[in-house]
Amino acid sequence: MSFVSRIDKLCFRGLEFYLKRDDLLSEFGGKARKLSFHLAQNYPQNQHFVSYGGLQSNALAALSLFSKKRNFRLSYAFERSSTFLEKNPRGNYALALANGTKFIKKPQNFPSLQDFALSLCAKGDILIPQGLATQDAAQGYQELTRELEDQSRAMGVDFDIFLPSGTGTAAAFLAKYSKFRVFTCACIGGSAYLRAQISSLEPDYDFSNLHILEPPKKYHFAKPYAEFYALYEAIRRECRVEFDLLYDMPGLRTLLHHRAKLGRILYLHQGGLSGNETMLERYLAHNL
Ligand SMILES: *Cc1c(COP(=O)(O)O)cnc(C)c1O
Repeated sequence: MSFVSRIDKLCFRGLEFYLKRDDLLSEFGGKARKLSFHLAQNYPQNQHFVSYGGLQSNALAALSLFSKKRNFRLSYAFERSSTFLEKNPRGNYALALANGTKFIKKPQNFPSLQDFALSLCAKGDILIPQGLATQDAAQGYQELTRELEDQSRAMGVDFDIFLPSGTGTAAAFLAKYSKFRVFTCACIGGSAYLRAQISSLEPDYDFSNLHILEPPKKYHFAKPYAEFYALYEAIRRECRVEFDLLYDMPGLRTLLHHRAKLGRILYLHQGGLSGNETMLERYLAHNL
């Protein structure tokens, strides 16, 4: 892939850090790294992809755009959605519908969503696991590692990389390939869940370069917190950068809490702003 993202220098609440602008990388945002392998393949016109997960997932938004641009077909299996959202599409779900994604709801008698998605695959179809958490993602993080090492050399600075984790795929591959230390925190489940996710991605994963930091307190994924909204506004005002509410807010809280453990921080901004729309509505509804 030939995209390169720039590095900015920011100062927030007295903390100076570098910001790797993968949010500006391409129309896929940070998820372009995970798609790099697929972007480089010569799939036939009309190739059918099957994926699954939440209706507001950033991976869904990126996959739907990828499929639309390349004239591929995307089917997406889901469960547990609100009828209200199904009738009033918003955010990433609306985006994916506009990009022609076909949505298929899992019948209740089907045990797992993954098995249901698998059952939708015919010969020649490609199944993409939830959150693009697959070995195919490795290629994009090898490229990102090389890019960061080139930029580090040109700037004459060594980095400690920080990025918030969902499935942990991005953090795991970065820590595997990079000579820089990589720090992360779990935004879904806790640290044990994050480790388990990474171990299922890569059974013999060596965690020695991946430092999992504990958030200052327990946050539930995708729940609105007044302190997150305040932080979102403050960093937008002070640094003129918009961050994602789901991952970057717990991420920044955790990073600020543990700042003394890190040297020259490089924060990886992975985008996800298309998901902010629905979260901001929820913040307004909660009057936070
Ligand atoms: C997908 C995503 C993440 C989590 O990435 P994982 O590789 O699943 O850990 C973090 N931040 C944003 C903005 C994302 O879109």
